[in-house]
Amino acid sequence: MPINIEEIRNQFPVLHQEVNGKPLVYFDNAATTQKPKQVLEALQQYYEMDNSNIHRGAHTLADRATRYYENTRSAIQKFINAKEEEEIIFTKGTTESINLVASTFGRKFIGKGDEIIISTLEHHSNIVPWQMLCEEKGAILKIIPINDAGEIDLEEFEKLLSAKTKLVSLVHVSNALGTINPVKRVIELAHKFGAKVLLDGAQSTNHLEVDVQELDCDFLAFSAHKLYGPTGLGILYGKREILESMPPYQGGGEMIKEVSFEKTTYNEIPFKFEAGTPNIADVIAFSKAIKFIDDLGKKEIKKHEDDLLEYASDALKDIKGFIPVGTAKEKVSVISFNINGMHPFDVGMMLDANGIAVRTGHHCTQPLMKRLGLEGTVRASFSVYNTKSEIDQMVASIARIAKIKNK
Ligand code: PMP
Repeated sequence: MPINIEEIRNQFPVLHQEVNGKPLVYFDNAATTQKPKQVLEALQQYYEMDNSNIHRGAHTLADRATRYYENTRSAIQKFINAKEEEEIIFTKGTTESINLVASTFGRKFIGKGDEIIISTLEHHSNIVPWQMLCEEKGAILKIIPINDAGEIDLEEFEKLLSAKTKLVSLVHVSNALGTINPVKRVIELAHKFGAKVLLDGAQSTNHLEVDVQELDCDFLAFSAHKLYGPTGLGILYGKREILESMPPYQGGGEMIKEVSFEKTTYNEIPFKFEAGTPNIADVIAFSKAIKFIDDLGKKEIKKHEDDLLEYASDALKDIKGFIPVGTAKEKVSVISFNINGMHPFDVGMMLDANGIAVRTGHHCTQPLMKRLGLEGTVRASFSVYNTKSEIDQMVASIARIAKIKNK
């Protein structure tokens, strides 16, 4: 069934406000999505009625909170089609999920002279943890180059692979350009060399159907806040046998089986990786965000977002001085651009004066910006609650702004 945009918008209180005297147009969805009422109500409900620590309580509230918390784990398992719910680990975000793999899998399985492959498209959170690991271990970081459209070069990738490759860590969808990477092929190729593959799914899990068994990725990292859920909550998926082979991440309560001063033994997965009291309220509320997505259907969401992308790309291309950045054939609903003669930050400020929220700058992808010869871009990213009339407003504003320097 096609989505009912008014019904959807009514579920997002934040969208119904004015900014600088204009109706808010929220096009900063790649940074974080807005939250539907159901998520906000679940947070309130938890703190009002269920607040309790989980997994070790001998009382009704603790049981209830534990059940709700673990229900989210199984909702996520289904959402990404993991084989087992023990393969779902809660973290603080994509960043922590990647750092967890670097600190545990990396420390144990990557040594001197081993190689890790990433790409030019990566977010800093999928660059820096590997640089830190390489520095510590004497391992080598290799980079898949891209073309001018912002697509990775698969032939060059194949040349980088060897028996020394221990891990390929790749962004599934670029946050800066919207490029969808050919991850299935990357995974097949990497596995031929015995390398494991981590996908940074921060920008893919919200737009695409991501099936970890079908892709056969070894790890998937993503953030709830980009999926209509709360901030401060991330997910790490890992294949059972790999997670079991990894040492724990942080030490503390919950991650142990038995502690004595002589020797401590560790809990089973996923708890081995979830030391301390977790982000209970946000985990519980996140199940409402997943339900929101499931109720609409990923296919319908994607169709709507693809429509918006096509509509906006068509309308913007004729504006004098409009320079698109990243023109990959396979893209999600992200438009990165510059205006000839203008700094991206100034364009963002002028759009904000018209109530239009976009992101400007390097988007935490400085090496990508360097490769493209740019200081930064303006990025408009669309979500399921955005409309063509909002795009009309943005296009009209951009046309007015571009005229200043492009008569
Ligand atoms: N990777 C990509 C592709 C992202 O877009 C982001 C968020 N901008 C991250 C990683 C980091 O996510 P978080 O800040 O939620 O940890």
